[in-house]
Amino acid sequence: MPTQWYNIVADMPQPPQPMLDPQTRKPITAEDLTSLFSEQSARQELTTERFIDIPDEVRDLYRIWRPTPLVRASGLEKALDTPAKIYFKNESISPVGSHKLNSAIPQAYYCKQQGIRHMTTETGAGQWGSALSIACKHFGLDLTVFMVNSSYEQKPYRKSVMRTYGADVIPSPSPATEVGRELRERFPNTPGSLGMAISEAVELALNQPDTRYGIGSTMNHVCLHQTIIGEEARKQMEIAGDYPDVVIGCFGGGSNFSGIAFPFMRDNLCNGNKTRFVAAEPEACPKLTKGRFEYDFGDTEGFTPLIPMYTLGHDFEPAAIHAGGLRYHGAGAVVSQLLKDHLMEAVDVNQLDSFKAGILFSQVEGIIPAPESTHAIYAAIQEALRAKEEGVERTILFCLSGHGLIDMASYDRYFAGELKQ
Ligand SMILES: *Cc1c(COP(=O)(O)O)cnc(C)c1O
Repeated sequence: MPTQWYNIVADMPQPPQPMLDPQTRKPITAEDLTSLFSEQSARQELTTERFIDIPDEVRDLYRIWRPTPLVRASGLEKALDTPAKIYFKNESISPVGSHKLNSAIPQAYYCKQQGIRHMTTETGAGQWGSALSIACKHFGLDLTVFMVNSSYEQKPYRKSVMRTYGADVIPSPSPATEVGRELRERFPNTPGSLGMAISEAVELALNQPDTRYGIGSTMNHVCLHQTIIGEEARKQMEIAGDYPDVVIGCFGGGSNFSGIAFPFMRDNLCNGNKTRFVAAEPEACPKLTKGRFEYDFGDTEGFTPLIPMYTLGHDFEPAAIHAGGLRYHGAGAVVSQLLKDHLMEAVDVNQLDSFKAGILFSQVEGIIPAPESTHAIYAAIQEALRAKEEGVERTILFCLSGHGLIDMASYDRYFAGELKQ
């Protein structure tokens, strides 16, 4: 298991533009972030150090399920009759069923280390909330989770998981915060969104003593923690005697994509490799393929700093698609800069195509993927079919970010023909 996370900022030809204070328009400092995040997370957010040591306490917990398997998807290769080799990194085997635990553990650990007693957060599909719930329990911290209302209704078992791990779960927008009350008045029938839930969790963290906010995606310190995925995969590919021509991840805010991609992207930036990197986002929330690169807020209400990113606008309300973890209006600053500089690509995938790909994958590989992960599977299948058309060998690696065993209601709705594009 790797002992360090990788910070791609150290190697980027154009580092990301700074986050700005919305009032003064001055760049945010680590100090500005410490009212919201632990000191270590705040420091990691802005550091340009290339490698960062993973604390022993974090590695001890990673060892419960890491390293995760790198799997050759021979069943999928056969089903597609493709000359391409398809590998996937199976992050679904974590105790909570997704990659989210990779960052939940260090975020909770750094809070604990500093004497913080409570954390707040938001969750879309419930994956991040589940991960931070068990991470907080490991370190004896209390947690309040604001869960996007549409997911609260669609994914009842996720909230049961969070409650089992000891968290307090509140559907968002809620009457528990000032911003929640205001949003309920302004949008009486809203399914909620990650942006709204973030506003609530941030408000509570800033107004309560001994409380910090945990974030599941987009920010650089989260992407940093997720690079454990790609660092492991890079070693495992080496053991397999292979190297990817294309690396794929589904894309919500960018954390699993960054995690699998950045360690390989280092080889492009530093050794002149020519691997392609593809982020697969939902057609219903296409910030990378149809958004604009500009300064925008990370939440609906404008509590966060201004972030330089591809965005659909912080008040964009995505349709209530079943890949709840991909319903976010913006992308992280680092990934946005990489896309702007053509160091990676993005594709959008519609919901029906993604489910179709997920069902094929289930039937030939035996693992039922999370609705989010099916977007990466669809993109990997497209790459494999193109390799077949072109008659070339190609090595494809994608991140299976999570399993869908708690999302079977979504599959049922697909089978019943109730899902829209
Ligand atoms: C949260 C989540 C995603 C999307 O978030 P990223 O930060 O873009 O990785 C994708 N897949 C699963 C299983 C998730 O839980």
